Amino acid sequence: MAILERWEPVIGLEVHAQLATNTKMFCRCKREYGASPNVHTCPVCLGYPGALPVLNQQAVEFAMIMGLAVDCTVRGLSRFARKNYFYPDLPKGYQISQYDEPICEHGKLTFLLDDGASKTVGITRIHMEEDAGKNIHGDGNESYVDYNRCGTPLIEIVSEPDIRSPEEAHKYLERLKQTLEYTGVSDADMEKGNLRCDANISIRPRGAAKLGTRTEMKNLNSFRGVERGLMYEIRRQIKLLENGAEVEQCTLSWDDHAGETRLMRSKEEAHDYRYFPEPDLVPLIIPDSQVQAIEAALPELPSAIEERFSKQYGLNPDDIRILTRTRELAGYCEQVIGAGANPADAAQWLQGEVMRVLNEERENITEFTMEPEQLAGLIDLVATGSINRNTAKTVFDRMLEEGLSALEIVTRDDLGQVSDAESIEQAVRMVLENNPVELERYLRGESKLFGFFMGRVMAGTRGKGDPQTVKSALQRILAEMHPGA
Ligand code: ADP
Ligand code: MG
Ligand code: ZN
Repeated sequence: MAILERWEPVIGLEVHAQLATNTKMFCRCKREYGASPNVHTCPVCLGYPGALPVLNQQAVEFAMIMGLAVDCTVRGLSRFARKNYFYPDLPKGYQISQYDEPICEHGKLTFLLDDGASKTVGITRIHMEEDAGKNIHGDGNESYVDYNRCGTPLIEIVSEPDIRSPEEAHKYLERLKQTLEYTGVSDADMEKGNLRCDANISIRPRGAAKLGTRTEMKNLNSFRGVERGLMYEIRRQIKLLENGAEVEQCTLSWDDHAGETRLMRSKEEAHDYRYFPEPDLVPLIIPDSQVQAIEAALPELPSAIEERFSKQYGLNPDDIRILTRTRELAGYCEQVIGAGANPADAAQWLQGEVMRVLNEERENITEFTMEPEQLAGLIDLVATGSINRNTAKTVFDRMLEEGLSALEIVTRDDLGQVSDAESIEQAVRMVLENNPVELERYLRGESKLFGFFMGRVMAGTRGKGDPQTVKSALQRILAEMHPGA
């Protein structure tokens, strides 16, 4: 877009992630996706008068883990606040959230763009809040409410307005999702709605320091939706500004089917929500010792694993990006390497045959039945020249079917590569003897018949001949017969 030379998009994201706790945020109802409507409810999450909330410690711990994973400071004292609004999926008439004293603040997230450049986006704050229920609209005029989700714990991760393009927004979200998964804080599945993203967008003339008026876009419920929605809104705002008009602050809803936005409401301010400290909960006090304990127990994070895969294993950026997408896949890869496979070979097998099978079976690496040591064994047979790559694919399939080791299958099915010079020379001489007409033509100069002999010899060894050895034997013997050829 040429207009982007004059105008600069500015984007800040607010991401909600449902925490992977066993129970809800302020009651002991189970947190379960897909259960029959309203089975996981009680007086607390249904907002009965007089029912009192009790804070879920696991939710607090998860919020801290994510905060520390993105370099936030955990506040020693944070506070819950009531955000008041009326909607049928919110039976209390207010949402318990955090406002000006959130649990975590001042963090950052670093990730790579497609051109290899590194980008860092500031994290303004992470606060805890409870989710609302779900309205379900029937075929006729009736609507229903399912309160199973009501009161489930969320963290909201608010970024600084540091994002400059839809691509950066996409990559930021991907990294956030990956970090949530690596730390086990959230399932972070956009399809199930446990990772949701609202985007704030404004435009300013390139070089300007002041931010333009922003709009907020909701209902961006896939990575592709985020990119498309942002692109649409950036174009719309630039067009307004180019025509001398102004952007009006408002909340928009992205319609992915129509590929356009719809106005939800015009300007809304924080004071509309009449925030005030939640009187039913004491302030949340977190001792330094707990912060330090959680920090010390953090798992290895995506950026650290990426760096290690590069330094320790010498893998290239593309391989690393794919192999570290989930902690489980990265772990499997390391086990294959740990069992003796060359890292580059391991990377190739994982991205080739293993991913093919996982895609076909719609499986996760955690469900993959071949042990990393078994795959390393197969890779070893190829590396030592015992079998060629083609045979190895057959062996791989049989290993998966039968659960045997590569060596067991190669031995049992007699698939070992024939590479001893003597038997290959014998096979070559036999092929030349049995095809006198072609030999005659070859010796008279039809050099393309070399391929024909190659094919015959390979067929004669039932595909087990080492192609390199066959080729050099064939070249040598033909040269002996016809010194000039
Ligand atoms: P609110 O309290 O209304 O949600 P915040 O100041 O907390 O507003 O900002 C919410 C999000 O909007 C943050 O991610 C922030 O980076 C982003 N944001 C704020 N101002 C702008 C702007 N002018 N353009 C783009 N994004 C912005
Ligand atoms: Mg907001
Ligand atoms: Zn409940």
